[in-house]
Amino acid sequence: MTEKYLIANWKMQLDKEQAIQQASLLAKLLSEEKISKDLRVVLCPDFIALSEVADIIKGSKIALGAQDGFYEEAGAFTSQVSMRQIKEAACQFVILGHSERRKLGESDEIINKKIKAALEQGLVPIVCVGETFDERKEGQQDLVIMHQIYEALKNIKPKPDQKIIIAYEPVWVIGTGQAIGIADAFYAASLIQQSLLDSLPDHDKKYCGVIYGGSVNSSNINDFVDLPNIQGALVGNASLDAQEFFTIIKKIK
Ligand code: PEP
Repeated sequence: MTEKYLIANWKMQLDKEQAIQQASLLAKLLSEEKISKDLRVVLCPDFIALSEVADIIKGSKIALGAQDGFYEEAGAFTSQVSMRQIKEAACQFVILGHSERRKLGESDEIINKKIKAALEQGLVPIVCVGETFDERKEGQQDLVIMHQIYEALKNIKPKPDQKIIIAYEPVWVIGTGQAIGIADAFYAASLIQQSLLDSLPDHDKKYCGVIYGGSVNSSNINDFVDLPNIQGALVGNASLDAQEFFTIIKKIK
């Protein structure tokens, strides 16, 4: 993948007014700044704020993503939002398999179905994988990551030019303010690239990317995106403030 991605995961952190304010400020800051032509900036607000944020960023350098989506296209599925509806809401991206969803019981099988549905709608799935603290303590991290990727991409057949992004997010550093070491990130990204090759042997690797997520901020962003096998970052806390997220964006050359 030649592009770089900075993806803001706003989770359930902002109310609608705050989401509007932060999206407006970021769009304004970016309109006055020349950013790398290969950089894609993506905001993933909650479902309630999607349409307002979509209006604000229309015509700007920012793309829209959802934080999840359901695998059925339509029907009696109370509370679910389908990939088609997400697409209709002007999203191009969808985060899937985030550890905060896995913690609530989302299985590999469900994540696999969601990836399939997202690709059918032409959305770019951002598939989160990563080990918990206990799994790392037991030395299981490689197995966990490989397993999550193999299960997520089982029988997935993307169209030749469809993009798939894998976000490596060690669960134990998310939201802690302390990112993982650079060598560990590099190692995990290599493992993920190999697992991608194994899972999607016929898919052109220029359409597959690995990004890092977990306590990224403007001080450590370059530690990760300057690695040759990491194409960007998924940013939680540090993306909630447009000024800080803008500072991160400016660090990408
Ligand atoms: C996340 O949960 O996707 C994330 C990256 O969060 P944070 O940046 O706050 O660790």
